[in-house]
Order: sequence, then C-alpha cells, then structure tokens
Amino acid sequence: MHRREFLGAAAAAPWAVKHLQAEDRPTDARITRVVGFTVTSQRSKVAGKNARLDVHGDQATDRWLRIYTNTGVEGLGDCRADEKAAAQLLGKDPLESFDAETRRMTGPLGVGTMPLWDLAGKLLEKPVYELLGGRGESPVPVYDGSIYFADLLPQYADKWQDRFREEIDMGLERGHRAFKIKIGRGHRWLPRADGNYRDWQVIRVIREHGGKDILLGVDANNGYDLLGAKQLFSRITREDVAFAEEMFPETVEDCLEFKQHLRDKGLETLVADGETQSKLKPLRPFMKPGAIEVYQADMRRFGFEGILQEAAWAEEFGHRVAPHNWGSWNGFFMQLQIARAIPNFYRAEHDPLSNDVFTSEGYEIKEGYASVPDVPGCGLGIREEAFARDAKILYDVRA
Ligand SMILES: [Mg+2]
Repeated sequence: MHRREFLGAAAAAPWAVKHLQAEDRPTDARITRVVGFTVTSQRSKVAGKNARLDVHGDQATDRWLRIYTNTGVEGLGDCRADEKAAAQLLGKDPLESFDAETRRMTGPLGVGTMPLWDLAGKLLEKPVYELLGGRGESPVPVYDGSIYFADLLPQYADKWQDRFREEIDMGLERGHRAFKIKIGRGHRWLPRADGNYRDWQVIRVIREHGGKDILLGVDANNGYDLLGAKQLFSRITREDVAFAEEMFPETVEDCLEFKQHLRDKGLETLVADGETQSKLKPLRPFMKPGAIEVYQADMRRFGFEGILQEAAWAEEFGHRVAPHNWGSWNGFFMQLQIARAIPNFYRAEHDPLSNDVFTSEGYEIKEGYASVPDVPGCGLGIREEAFARDAKILYDVRA
C-alpha cells in the first residue's frame, strides 16, 4: 500500500493502528538528525519552601529532544538520553520502535520516548493520546500545584494571609478551580505544634477566600507522621480537603489506618501517594487493599510507558492516577496526553511556567479543565527565533 493511501485508511478505520502490520507501515521516513537541548521556563511567582526543601524559586528547566527526518516531519519531546544513545536513532525508520499492540515505544531513549511518540503520531496522523489508548475523558481536570510556604518568605511574613489570597486569585485568573496546598511546616521550619497549627490556618484562609466551589488538596511531602496526620484531619471539617498527598512515608499499614481515620471522621478525602518511588513495583502492594487511592509516580521519571503501566495496575482495583509533576513546563502536556489515553486519570498537576520557545495551541485551561488539541502528535510546536536564542544545545548529531 502506498503511504498516502495507508494514512487515509488509518484515519478512516480506528482499528487500523492496532492491527498495523509491519509491511503496511510507511517506510520512507528516516531519522536524519537529533538535537538534545534544554529550555528554562519562568514561573509566575517565587515558589517558597515545602516541608523538606528550601525556596523553589521562579524557574525550571526541561530537557528535550528534537528528532528530524527526511520527510520534513519532526518529533519533539521530553528526553534525557545522552548523545551516544540519541545517535543510535540516525538512519532508522522512526516507526520501527513503535509496537502498536502493546502501546510501547522501544529503542535507545530509555523512558524518554515522548519525541518518538510525537513523531509516530505525526507520521500516522494520530494524536499521541489515541496511540496510547484513547480511553480518557475530555476536557481534563487540572490543578494549580504552586501553593508553597509563602508565609515563610520574608517579604510576605507579616501579611501572609493576603499573600495566599493573592496566589489563589492568580490561579483563578489562569483558569484553575483546584489547588494543592503545601503543608508540613513543622518538619523543618517551625516548631512542630506551631507548624501544624499554621498548616491548618493556611488551609482555612484559602477555603474561606476561594469559597466552596474550589477543590483543595494538601501535600505534606512526608512532613507529618501518622499520628500528626490524624490530628490534622481531626481539625479539618468544613475546610473540605479532596486529597491528602504524601502525609508520611507510605506503608500499607499506616496508609490504611489513616484512610480509616478519615472515613471515621466522615471525610471523603482521598489518600494520594507515590511520587518518591524510583520504581513502580513497590506501589503494587498498596493497590489490592486500597491503601493508596490516587497513585502519583512521577511523570518524567517513568515516561508514557511507565505511567500507562501504573494506571493499568491501578485500574484493576478501581484506583486512579495523578502523576507527580513539579519543575517542568512539558510534564503538564505529557500528563494531558496520558489523561486522554486512560479511563482512570484523576487530575493533572500544573506548575505555572512559561517560555517563548514552544507553542501549545489548543491546550487551554478554563474553569478547572484543560483542553487537549485533536492534532497529530503531541501538539507542541517550536518558534524558531526563540529556539535559536533561548534553547541551550547539548548535542547535535546528523546522519
Ligand atoms: Mg507532592
């Protein structure tokens, strides 16, 4: 079959990609050049401390790969592969790595397969979320993950209540209706009792300011222990917290006890955890007993394939995933592609970053939901002038 005819057939029949035979794949595309680079994005404000780490600042840097082909079609995406690994792609058919049956992208890039997915989507004229499964809802619920310890920044210390109100207004302005509040001040920065009390006050100020229609979650970065977590949620009543993330280092037993405490109090707060795991397997034992209800393996650490695996496991037991994503502009878009691929996505974490290098047309945050464009690939583009000025080239290899 001629490539053009094939692409037409694939577009007409949704099952075509799944049953793609090796001989039907377009074979005229070859990878001719691979560029590894970084882009630093600017946050809309200084993010302060969290329970464990000092001030997070107002910038974050993503690592990218740009894959060129002889067809003029390019792939773009998150990837930390080094020059030697990337060079192995030169001369290859980009679809050689794509296994439609298992929804896996193999090859030399490790977990950083996004640029190959983007390229495959463009060559097959499919959105990446469709190649990844296409079972998710649209638009995608999102949240603003940037409510750090503003009260502990000296510039806001004497007016911290107002600063939190301002930060919530900034998020609302950006289209958010859900917010994650960092807690755990008593772990490193304040005496334990004072820190725990301040955490509660901050949640109250934000709930009072935002009203009953916004969704609030909390994230302690493991800055509490089980007893402290139970005490905090004994105080919480009308503050209405939708999810509690990393209250303490997760064990099946402690998470179950915490969850029971929440239910005994009549709270529907979901237990969320898993971002510090460096492997997925340790999350398995939490699933059957439902000790964690929202699974949060890191978006970029595990990539598309890893999060799909976690989501498939969680789905077996009726649980959801909400990948961890902080300090990345691109990780937000990766989550949105995953969200449209799977049926059990909870909510995407947004770190309010921006840059001039990339375009993201069709992705829009409105009333707490993000749209995802129905275009081939991931839907991110490059402004060449800004790329030449702002991208820091790590390597540039050519066939
Ligand atoms: Mg977290």
